[in-house]
Amino acid sequence: MEKTLQNYESIIGTVATSKLRQVARDLKGASVVHVNSTKEGGGVAEILFWMIPLMNELGMDASWEVLNGNADYFNTTKTFHNGLQGNKVILSEKMIKAYEDTVEENAERLREKLADADIVVIHDPQPAYLHQLVPEKKGKWIWRCHIDASHPNRQVWNYLRSKVNDYDASIFSMPDYAQRLDHPQFIIAPSIDPLSDKNIDLSEQEILDTLSNFNIDPNRPILTQISRFDRFKDPIGVIEAFNLLNGAFNAQLVLAGGGATDDPEGAAVLEEVKEAANGNPDIHILMLPPDAHRIINALQRASAIVIQKSLQEGFGLTVTEALWKNKPVIGGNTGGIRLQVHNHHTGFLVDTPEGAALRIRRLLSNPDLMYTIGNTAKEFVKENYLCNRQLREYLTLMLGLRKGLANHLIAG
Ligand code: UDP
Repeated sequence: MEKTLQNYESIIGTVATSKLRQVARDLKGASVVHVNSTKEGGGVAEILFWMIPLMNELGMDASWEVLNGNADYFNTTKTFHNGLQGNKVILSEKMIKAYEDTVEENAERLREKLADADIVVIHDPQPAYLHQLVPEKKGKWIWRCHIDASHPNRQVWNYLRSKVNDYDASIFSMPDYAQRLDHPQFIIAPSIDPLSDKNIDLSEQEILDTLSNFNIDPNRPILTQISRFDRFKDPIGVIEAFNLLNGAFNAQLVLAGGGATDDPEGAAVLEEVKEAANGNPDIHILMLPPDAHRIINALQRASAIVIQKSLQEGFGLTVTEALWKNKPVIGGNTGGIRLQVHNHHTGFLVDTPEGAALRIRRLLSNPDLMYTIGNTAKEFVKENYLCNRQLREYLTLMLGLRKGLANHLIAG
């Protein structure tokens, strides 16, 4: 469905769209450039897909640039990612050179556009160095960190800090992630687009066809985790939880995910997951193409419970997507999942496979509880995590930066 404000109105209401128009009034004509490192896969791309057209409809001149990189660059940026999330990693001189060479090459292509933009939003560490490579800037630069950076590896953070410290502002998803930086930091949680193929209502037939394509039985309870194959998402822990059910409820497990073009570790993790599944026919491991949005939508809708047993998670859009579809979520007790999964209300937070198995049993043996939690979950997302709220907060922040109010501004 076309991403026009009018189409959103039926879901978010007239007042919400009117408020967006009101906030955007003073930003009309402002050029905004978002930069990240992948057009598909992962939460950032998911957000930019709806944010760019909506900003344009509100009268801004918004665009999205993607950095091109080779394997050495993406291995380094994955090391940044793992290091920011607290893993022990070593950043070698060679890796730093691969990173800087690639961003410098991209800067040649983007410099003029970025220098002229009124607002530049740099997403995550991959393009962060661009700021230093565009000396003559006209506009305000925001670093948007989507990662749980609450306990970063010191070497990685010291390097990245030297690249982001001179930005005009940064945005984190949770207060815990904010860092010592010499500029104002804002807390803005991500959100989902209810009109995207990922979240739009589907017919019962489409859901059944999707299950049939993957030989999943529609008449047995389905437990699903949708994620890139990444160790922080703990797919092996999900398999352990499933195995602890010992065949109870005749349930099936679906682990579905693809790769993101900026994530080089996916293939290795997928192999580990297949090994852990040990040929169990009730465990469906689906490697999906990057545009499988309706398939993911159908799998989430077909599920009795959605699991997101991450060990660390910046926010976890997959959780939001599941809650929006009236699904109780069993989520890892970490990061942004804690914002979304409220015990007994929208699902359950768990720390171990044993805890996950316990909560799965509790829910599957109590359909009324699943129904009540599912209804609360949808309302909770409607109130807090739909795209209009996030866009409004971004616009408020941009407005404040442009008017020089940043030190006094509370986005929202
Ligand atoms: N996603 C997808 N295909 C996949 C795996 C994930 O489209 O194979 C989507 C998923 O539905 C969600 C986003 O990518 O919208 C993942 O965002 P999240 O915040 O959960 O995790 P991230 O991948 O950014 O760490």
